[in-house]
Amino acid sequence: MLNAKNLNAKFNLKMIEYRYMNEATNSIIRTRFAPSPTGFLHIGSLRTALYAFLLAKHESGDFLLRIEDTDKKREVEGAEDALKEILTKFGLIWDEFYKQSERLEKYLKAAQKLVEEGHAFYCQCKPKNAKVEGFSNVLRDPCRDKSLKSGAVKLRVPENQTLSYFDFVHKKEISWKSDTVYDATLLKSDGYPTYHLAVAVDDLDMKITHILRGHDWLPSTPIHLLVFEYLGGKAPKIGHLTDILSSETGKKLSKRRDSVFVEQFVNDGYLEEALLNFVLLLGWAPKDNKELFTLDEMVKVFDINGFQEANPRFFMDKLNWMNGQYIRNLPMEDLNSKFQMTNAKFKALDNKKQLEITKLLQERMVKLTDLNTLAKFFWEKPDVDISLFGENYKKHLEVANEVVNNIDEWKLEVLNEKLMERIKSEGFKVGDFFMSLRIAITGMKFTPPINDSIIILGKEETIERLTSVITRSKTTK
Ligand code: GLU
Repeated sequence: MLNAKNLNAKFNLKMIEYRYMNEATNSIIRTRFAPSPTGFLHIGSLRTALYAFLLAKHESGDFLLRIEDTDKKREVEGAEDALKEILTKFGLIWDEFYKQSERLEKYLKAAQKLVEEGHAFYCQCKPKNAKVEGFSNVLRDPCRDKSLKSGAVKLRVPENQTLSYFDFVHKKEISWKSDTVYDATLLKSDGYPTYHLAVAVDDLDMKITHILRGHDWLPSTPIHLLVFEYLGGKAPKIGHLTDILSSETGKKLSKRRDSVFVEQFVNDGYLEEALLNFVLLLGWAPKDNKELFTLDEMVKVFDINGFQEANPRFFMDKLNWMNGQYIRNLPMEDLNSKFQMTNAKFKALDNKKQLEITKLLQERMVKLTDLNTLAKFFWEKPDVDISLFGENYKKHLEVANEVVNNIDEWKLEVLNEKLMERIKSEGFKVGDFFMSLRIAITGMKFTPPINDSIIILGKEETIERLTSVITRSKTTK
């Protein structure tokens, strides 16, 4: 069972070492990750959560998890628990937890205050006029001067103002003319807030010092700036993260074309530590060229100035390389238990054999799921396709069978030596001989080192597999 509380306690202890206050505001850094519970976690959201976590933890601040669940139509059952579980797995442990659906009263009060103070108005237009939540086709809403007493609440956007903020990711001032900003809906007629109202109320209420979010939210920012101001608060610092581009198409990662969900990567055999390290470098860079970081190391080195302005590309080769590095750095027992968790047939082998296979694979695998492709032949007799063999294979296999039969001391060095002796005396080409042997034993052309594999497989099983192919070869041409 995952236990966020224990982990939290353990983790925060480490944080104490480098706790200091944010000098500029003399307040502790508080960041939040604010997902909507709409399904799997996007790799870009993992990055947002990581950066928000690091920004806070580098200065021993607070990282909040806030579930933005006011759009009940989009909510997916179980998504909240899944989110908590996956963040915990990645070590991104939150200090405080909030859920917007439990805070509806706050939004209602804020909306009423805005109406009372003339910064918002009631609107009774049919919702179909509103294109997307909070946006409408017309900039200025026809109800804004009607002084209605009920309905949805919309923002009264002022004329001729410049709305601006300094984006700490892009390191530049971004501004809008208020004449281009919609009278956005803040509270729907059913009493539920839109994202615009809820986000601003919460960021003020929760004393968020730094907002970090996806680039998609940039057009909402002028609305939020107004709401922050009208609610009498100071806007937190805001940073919009770059878009992650596919290395193949150069376009923004797409759910249809690319793998984008964290759960999918984990199922495909990528380690949490490797994924986290990989997303760290998608849009942020350390001062030196260091590439591999544990979460603790990330916390230590994370620096707000390290955000990169150019959109990063998602290079699968790089993720594969990184995952391989993490696999090789795992203690062998840990890798072995990960294998056990992902593969029941592997788990059914005796322990000694399991460890031997783990040792053999650790040096050469990219992701955990390679276990099944690279090592399946250990627990499943191969279905050998005779057409894979090259010339002379029958002779190769007969000789191999003879050598194996005559070995008393079942050891790698002995097998190596005896096979090499015969290869030489028979005048075989070394590569061709081992390819025949590899195919007969595993059914594949790419495998872990074949002699090591044969030793693990055992004498009896090896003889059985060789004999089976030799027998078949006699009945085929
Ligand atoms: N609920 C929004 C999301 O799903 C949060 C955006 C923000 O952080 O302001 O990404």
